[in-house]
Amino acid sequence: MSGGAACGAAVKANAYGLGAEKVVKALLDAGCRDFFVTTWSEAQPILHLLENASLSLLHGVSREDVADVAAAPSGVRPILNSLQQIARWKEAAPGRPCDVMIDTGMNRLGLSPEEALSGALSGLDVDILLSHLASADEDVPQNERQLRTFETVASQVAVKRRSLSNSAGILLGSDYHFDLTRPGLALYGGIPRKEGQGHIRPAFKVEAQVVQRRTVRAGDTIGYNATFTAPRDMEIAIVNVGYADGYLRCFSNIGEARVAGETVPVLGRVSMDLTAVQVPVASSLDEGDWVEIQLDLPKASAQSGLSQYEVLTLLGSRYSRGTLVG
Ligand SMILES: *Cc1c(COP(=O)(O)O)cnc(C)c1O
Repeated sequence: MSGGAACGAAVKANAYGLGAEKVVKALLDAGCRDFFVTTWSEAQPILHLLENASLSLLHGVSREDVADVAAAPSGVRPILNSLQQIARWKEAAPGRPCDVMIDTGMNRLGLSPEEALSGALSGLDVDILLSHLASADEDVPQNERQLRTFETVASQVAVKRRSLSNSAGILLGSDYHFDLTRPGLALYGGIPRKEGQGHIRPAFKVEAQVVQRRTVRAGDTIGYNATFTAPRDMEIAIVNVGYADGYLRCFSNIGEARVAGETVPVLGRVSMDLTAVQVPVASSLDEGDWVEIQLDLPKASAQSGLSQYEVLTLLGSRYSRGTLVG
């Protein structure tokens, strides 16, 4: 959906919780050559995979990591966000390529357009000129305002490539694509705008193992604070996932699981390490069997009130991350 633009990938935050190494390998196989992480510490675990790819550091360079970044393999570039960072980079790595972020109205990171147009970039070898959209998942005038500002700056500075859009920005259409896009969420199955429906598939699933199967009697309650009372005799399975795995308590009595091809509800409150799900009476599900926790991102977000980004990036460190789906 990025049209003629190259498609990069945001793999910050451990590839949004899915495991940066595995995700980067899969994306390299798919032809991706431009990766984005926040800092040098996020770069290190994936550097060995990126001999022939470019890796940009969204937070730029800090006092603490500038020496390491200046000595990193040549594909690694800081995205310089301020006059201070530009000065730091010129001093530590004169002539070495970098990227530059322009703030076009989000007021998060980046040089102001005025700074960028009044000589701040002179003496820099800029590969990618970036800006970031604040509200691309909404239909608001801010999108076009940011687009115009970015075009104005980009047309007046000498850079190799220009990049504006995250996942939602790609779905705003070809005006927003420039030379390179940098989706994160959509790569992992998130759907930030309706234009993505039918084009984006889930990229992961979460499974939990049954620790115990039990029968509850009509009137029995389940879990902490007894928030679920069985209306009739029921079969339940206690599975080994909980809020310490990022399956937060907002899924209590709302979340779903897949058991033997059927969708079944989470019953009662999600605990730190355990969650109760209903078991179809005829199912042979038992200790040691695996249950899929429903975490299709748009649906899980609607159920829980968490954003799709939160559902993803909360996925904890206790999962054994297997092969990627699809
Ligand atoms: C995280 C990030 C992205 C990816 O955003 P998604 O909404 O996940 O597609 C792109 N650009 C910047 C600057 C980011 O910080």
